Amino acid sequence: MRIDVVTIFPEYLEPLNVSLVGKARARGLLDVRLHDLREWTHDKHNTVDDTPYGGGPGMVMKPDPWGEALDAVIGSGVQGEEPPVLVVPTPSGRPFTQELAVELSEKPWLVFTPARYEGIDRRVIEEYGDRLDVREVSIGDYVLAGGEAPVLVMVEAVARLLPGVLGNAESHRDDSFAPGAMADLLEGPVYTKPPEWRGRGIPDVLLSGHHGKIARWRRDEAFRRTVRNRPDLIERADPAAFDKKDREI
Ligand code: SAM
Repeated sequence: MRIDVVTIFPEYLEPLNVSLVGKARARGLLDVRLHDLREWTHDKHNTVDDTPYGGGPGMVMKPDPWGEALDAVIGSGVQGEEPPVLVVPTPSGRPFTQELAVELSEKPWLVFTPARYEGIDRRVIEEYGDRLDVREVSIGDYVLAGGEAPVLVMVEAVARLLPGVLGNAESHRDDSFAPGAMADLLEGPVYTKPPEWRGRGIPDVLLSGHHGKIARWRRDEAFRRTVRNRPDLIERADPAAFDKKDREI
């Protein structure tokens, strides 16, 4: 997969050299290219923002540098190959979910446009929306100072789903929100050695070696945790899918 990020703070994306994403890059599974938006400015102050039409506080990112930058990045693709999905981080976007991470992980190319100030002039989103798949995405109901942290969040969520990135391909199957074993539930508690720590043991069933009972226990714990922490997930789940999953265990 190829990922391009256009930003005024490329150094903010340094963590993409570390850990899972860094290793995926080093192994050639992920091609990440960072671009400084200011390279597409033409004045001596490298201006990327201006006052908002209609007045009000804050500044808005100008369309000109974004247009030039995106034309250059998108134009660098191989002729005839699938164009990128443009991912626009914004608190006013659709929520970023595991489902969307899975969908994006199946695309060959993503371009991220993390903004600063009050965001990007709307015409940029409209312009590229006419020719590309554009997703305006929010990572949560709060406002950050810029879109770089959301890009780190989204790239990590997507990268760990790419074939070959996780050591054990099965390991995201049981994650919270995964469509597989957990069927929209949160993952329950996990334990490792030693079997006793500060007087606290682990549930006997985990030592039983009985796969069926362990799966049943995990499912019950996942359900309990979801009821406690995210009752909204239970409310919107399909009861038929729940029953089917429970019969399988
Ligand atoms: N005035 C905007 C609003 O209220 O929707 C907030 C702009 S915010 C200060 C600047 C930039 O940070 C946004 O354009 C976006 O790129 C990024 N950002 C902030 N919070 C975000 C969130 N929850 N999800 C995704 N991106 C976010």
